[in-house]
Amino acid sequence: MLIMSAVIVSPLNAAEKEPSRFDRFFTEGTMRINLQHCGDATSEEYFLEDIVRDSYWGGSKKYLIDTLGYGFQHLRVYDAATDSLIYSRGYCTIFNEWQATPQAQTTRKSYPESVILPYPKAAVRVEITARDKSRNEKRIFSHTIDPSDYQIVRPQERYETFDVIYNRPSDKAIDIAILSEGYTADQKELFEQNCREFAEAILSFSPFKENRRRFNFRAVWVPSKESGVSMPGENYWRNTALGARFYTFYSERYQIVNDFRRVRQVAAAVPYDYIYILSNSQKYGGGGIYNFYGISSAADPSNHLKVYVHEFAHLFMGLADEYVGGAEEGLYDLSVEPWEENITTLKEFDKKAWSRMIDDKTPVPTPAEKRYENTLGVFEGGGYNEKGIYRPAMKCLMNSFGGVEEFCPVCKAALSKTIRTLSE
Ligand SMILES: [Zn+2]
Repeated sequence: MLIMSAVIVSPLNAAEKEPSRFDRFFTEGTMRINLQHCGDATSEEYFLEDIVRDSYWGGSKKYLIDTLGYGFQHLRVYDAATDSLIYSRGYCTIFNEWQATPQAQTTRKSYPESVILPYPKAAVRVEITARDKSRNEKRIFSHTIDPSDYQIVRPQERYETFDVIYNRPSDKAIDIAILSEGYTADQKELFEQNCREFAEAILSFSPFKENRRRFNFRAVWVPSKESGVSMPGENYWRNTALGARFYTFYSERYQIVNDFRRVRQVAAAVPYDYIYILSNSQKYGGGGIYNFYGISSAADPSNHLKVYVHEFAHLFMGLADEYVGGAEEGLYDLSVEPWEENITTLKEFDKKAWSRMIDDKTPVPTPAEKRYENTLGVFEGGGYNEKGIYRPAMKCLMNSFGGVEEFCPVCKAALSKTIRTLSE
């Protein structure tokens, strides 16, 4: 009986104390740490650039320690005096994807990046670890910061911002910052319209639809000198606010911004959990990286609403691509279980929630036959690989868009769990 009561009491106490834990260690605002992520195909490290104090904190004040475990990198923040873990987040980077390209075999390269934490009251030790594709984790950065150091930069840039959809205070909402890219000063109304379309598109797909009230959308208006987005493979270059480009890693439809440091600098004008960039291009394509940023074309006349929600799912919880092919075929090690919820190598499949969702009568692996068209199973082909990686369903918005209007049940369940975790 005594043991029983101890078990029941301690989690309740922990939950009750969580808000005061924020107040104990953190104050208003964000600490933004600008870094260079450097290395090659098999090694990586971080170099410090500078530390900035921003006005807003858009994240949860309750969910401080990451329990989801997604991402190749993990930021961990320790109170320096007691060495206790006070904040953590997993994330992915464009650097990880570049590591899988042929160039990384022969070249050392760096990408500008930035990590954020709620502004600490006392000295903190900030650590970043990285897992390689075989899931071995090692520390690649460690730095102790005194939050009262007068070298911490107070940014002087000012951007115009506006609410697109507002539902509830930032600490209890999932806040999306929408950034403009490739819109000239006279195209502000077009951007405003595109922001509304973006927010409504995300909230029109399940499970975002059912959780509408947990989301806020705010925009940061940063006009570009020229309209459009650069397309190196077509010898088309534009002078734009964030420097977005198609043809990333020689893949025509892969649109990204190399300078994530710049992206965070602009996003800091509003409280946010996630950053999405709307680019003023008619070309079909985009990109989305877990807890980093998402981007896609707002003026693409074909499938852009589905591209929005597909890239947003990458950004929001690192759902994997369920399709075969593309520039990133070497991203996964087929001998280990990937951390993403919606693909498996069948190495440790039983650890995934997905394994408990399959009907006993469904064969594993599941043949891609018409009779299993609407069945949840384990279908070979996914994560860019034709063999050795499996996906949950024949149809899903993480696979292809033709005639597909929803996420598969595994993606839906994983998204629902993440929405609840971040907005409690
Ligand atoms: Zn799916």
